[in-house]
Amino acid sequence: MRIDRITPELVELAPRVLQPGRLYISEKYRAVVHLCCCGCGEKVVTPLSPAEWQIQLAQGRATLHPSIGNWSMACQSHYLIRDNRVIWSGQLSKRQIKAVFERDQRDLQAMHRGTQEQPTVEQSTPSPSPSGGERADAGWRARLKAFWQWLTR
Ligand SMILES: [Zn+2]
Repeated sequence: MRIDRITPELVELAPRVLQPGRLYISEKYRAVVHLCCCGCGEKVVTPLSPAEWQIQLAQGRATLHPSIGNWSMACQSHYLIRDNRVIWSGQLSKRQIKAVFERDQRDLQAMHRGTQEQPTVEQSTPSPSPSGGERADAGWRARLKAFWQWLTR
């Protein structure tokens, strides 16, 4: 049976027996594990990285980006997890699946290349705001001042 709600749970390691409707988030292992929301009982592991999945947790509500596409499994489920809700999408066509795989490959390649080149594929990374540098600089100056005061006390 399909479920339409999922509850996040912060764990170090996902339990051996997973409960349906639970989203196990391991910061240590940088992965999210859950049972497929269609009820087929398959375990879905989504690694967390800029090129793979990202999780947002706000007031106990989880949002996972991008969508979960279980096209390697028999059920071919495809859904989004947003604010603990499971939003079902239609099944992907073979062509769409191929497009997603290719996009993932590009993202991974971009991540491995690092930041020296290909700035166009990095739109998912927020660029630092102009004030960010100043704030960091101010923090550094404050620490230096505190250190100096400690030295000359
Ligand atoms: Zn399933």
